[in-house]
Amino acid sequence: MTTAAAYSVSAPDGRFEKTTIERRELGPHDVLIDIKYAGICHSDIHIARNEWHGTRYPAVPGHEIAGIVAAVGSAVSKHKVGDRVGVGCMVDSCGECASCVAGEEQYCTGGNTMTYNSVVPESVQPGGHTLGGYSTRVVVTEHFVLSIPEGIGLDVAAPLLCAGITLFSPLRHWNAGPGKQVAIVGMGGLGHVGVKLAAAMGAEVTVLSQSLSKQEDGLRLGAHHYYATSDKQTFKDLRRRFDLILNTVSAPLPIDNYMRLLNLDGTLVILGLPDSPLTVQPFTVVGVRRSLAGSTIGSIAETQEMLNFCAEHGIGAEIEVISADRIDDAYARVLASDVRYRFVIDAATM
Ligand code: NAP
Ligand code: ZN
Repeated sequence: MTTAAAYSVSAPDGRFEKTTIERRELGPHDVLIDIKYAGICHSDIHIARNEWHGTRYPAVPGHEIAGIVAAVGSAVSKHKVGDRVGVGCMVDSCGECASCVAGEEQYCTGGNTMTYNSVVPESVQPGGHTLGGYSTRVVVTEHFVLSIPEGIGLDVAAPLLCAGITLFSPLRHWNAGPGKQVAIVGMGGLGHVGVKLAAAMGAEVTVLSQSLSKQEDGLRLGAHHYYATSDKQTFKDLRRRFDLILNTVSAPLPIDNYMRLLNLDGTLVILGLPDSPLTVQPFTVVGVRRSLAGSTIGSIAETQEMLNFCAEHGIGAEIEVISADRIDDAYARVLASDVRYRFVIDAATM
């Protein structure tokens, strides 16, 4: 076992506290990573506050990890000491089910192991559940460790490991590119990376935000149009405009209103995960052959492809680096939609 400094939370209304955790001994296929930066994803908040009703406490969130390889197991071939690496939402999967064999570990039917809050044997993680990236070190099996290309700073790369891949995967799956009208709903952590990626893929990009307060930023990041959803006229003006709408909003939305913005054969993809049902009128989908879909992160191969794409196109997240003792304040600002556009914890402050 090796120890690491970490920040953990022990109750839904608790505050983050500094603690020391243990990481497992290096197995032959394991990589020990010195964490440099960890992004704060809204999923961290959902879990820290038990909004999905399955949180295992004490919880150490964090699945946007960037760091440097400190040691490798005897059989590791993919990474070496000193490499710049990242870890996203998954740290293992069954490797045998149809999804894993097809290289889509995020849809593993055997049960994949998430970077934090997944049940694992005590030998893997003392305490019996995985602990994430709000920490100084982590041990991960090599397949789930990504290479961060030279040219992207580790700080701006960290959020790509979740926010980046969560947008990249559906943009690719639903063929965003030249001639396609793509809307991104919500200009937060996920949304702002989505704007950059969709624009780099060549799509015509529209941001649908609650207000116009971030319009200048949205256009600077590559959006071609920016509308306020608080203005009812937006929903009239944009009726049947889009081929693809990616909904990154963390709160429940009147989704039927957004579905009506899809053109024939258009798809609205749910990415945001409030714990509440959505209502869609049958007439809304039937009349224009629209689809309502969902998507979760992306595969390991696709995550590497995304990182390479970002390096090629000079894409990183827009970040505000914070010290670890400010996690609670950062959560409050994310909840108030006052994030520009991802908080990233500097692990050196732990
Ligand atoms: P975030 O930074 O808080 O961004 C969410 C954005 O949604 C906000 O910035 C805000 O944008 C908008 N919003 C918030 N409350 C709203 C409301 N009541 N009505 C309308 N719009 C609202 O969060 P994030 O980190 O991007 O994560 C977003 C969601 O995606 C979370 O639920 C998270 O759990 C989920 N997620 C899913 C996956 C996946 O694989 N599917 C991966 C990661 C995260 P504006 O100010 O522009 O309106
Ligand atoms: Zn996330």
